[in-house]
Amino acid sequence: MTLEQQRHILVVFPHPDDEAFSSAGLIRLYRNMGVPVTYACLTLGEMGRNLGNPPFATRESLPEIRRKELEEACKAMGIEDLRMMGFRDKTIEFEDNEKMVQLVRNLIDECNPSLIITFLPGYAVHPDHDATGRAVVEAVRRMDRNARPTVYGVGFANNTIAEKGEPDVVIDIMSVKEDKLKALQAHASQTAWMIEENQKRIDEGQPMSDSWFHYEKFYTINVDE
Ligand SMILES: [Zn+2]
Repeated sequence: MTLEQQRHILVVFPHPDDEAFSSAGLIRLYRNMGVPVTYACLTLGEMGRNLGNPPFATRESLPEIRRKELEEACKAMGIEDLRMMGFRDKTIEFEDNEKMVQLVRNLIDECNPSLIITFLPGYAVHPDHDATGRAVVEAVRRMDRNARPTVYGVGFANNTIAEKGEPDVVIDIMSVKEDKLKALQAHASQTAWMIEENQKRIDEGQPMSDSWFHYEKFYTINVDE
């Protein structure tokens, strides 16, 4: 699939590392084409369960660690416009709906994106993920039809393919897989286990796991549905 040219891309996810798993390759490919990318990361994921063993962080130090990791990941993806929106982790689902929609609307007004990347509501496993996707979809739904950006949704719940079919957007990211690996490595507090698993596979002569480093897949969301 060849990449459509974009004017500006707005990425909206609730947790640092959501972007690295789901879209680091796509983001890097677009940055290599010179497309500006704004990443609005709603929380610092400070409620993450993983404090390490032995613990490398306390509840108090974790936000600062994840902030630095996020900045490092953005470097790997080439993102120059990172917005840390300052919400508390695990609270997005309880935020006032209107407030979230307005927040997305303000970002759209400011960036004038032709593409938004977020979670596919209902198929994103974590309540904060679903709430984030819902706010984006609602903000875009309220826009004039001809002014709406395209919205790509990341869905990975077990029932996603059974209910939504195969994702319609499949991006080959092999050419930037090193950058994606770097972005994932940057989120060390969350991904160290995964990187280790992957290295083991490589050491055992198995090819790199196809799912993260070969393709990234998205659903184009019909906001009127
Ligand atoms: Zn997340």
